[in-house]
Amino acid sequence: MRQLGRQAGSALTQTRTVPAPDDLRLELIGVPAGADVALEVRFEAVSEGVLATGTATVPLAGECARCLAPLTSSVIVGFQELYLYAEGRHDKHDKHDRYDNHDEQEEQDAEGLYHLDGDLLDLEPAFRDAVVLALPMSPLCREDCPGLCTECGAPLADAGPGHQHDAAVDPRWAALQQLSEQGDDNQQDRRARAIDLQEG
Ligand SMILES: [Zn+2]
Ligand SMILES: [Zn+2]
Repeated sequence: MRQLGRQAGSALTQTRTVPAPDDLRLELIGVPAGADVALEVRFEAVSEGVLATGTATVPLAGECARCLAPLTSSVIVGFQELYLYAEGRHDKHDKHDRYDNHDEQEEQDAEGLYHLDGDLLDLEPAFRDAVVLALPMSPLCREDCPGLCTECGAPLADAGPGHQHDAAVDPRWAALQQLSEQGDDNQQDRRARAIDLQEG
């Protein structure tokens, strides 16, 4: 940050590769912890602090929501955050300063704002938010993934378009079918007996 200086309008772009933080994942897909994340961040001095505008190329690993095959991909996310200069806190009140007497309203104003911690600027929260929003809820191994066979569970992509099961009914259904056929027989018997009684 020292390179940037505090002259409003001065800017600096940095590119670097950083290890992905932990716990960046949804149910089916996420960022492998420690994987290489390519970051490009433009830092711009503005009157209250430093505006960081970043682009990150993030590797993903997970499984296909349709066929459950393992998959890898990547997303590019953009994020932006304003980091206030430390001096700016004196009149805004630092919510971490327990000796500070300030009313609740002012504390709420300070919520959600990041501060420059010395020369260090923590990009992780902004990066995290952007990645979580970019993670697909239903990742697919390929756009037209046909999923799994509803009868045998085989991945249809491997099984091929000819994959099908003959009309033979699933054994569990076959058993039910037998039962209902028996039921029909019983009904017929009863009807027959009823006719006998009437005639007798
Ligand atoms: Zn798939
Ligand atoms: Zn099948």
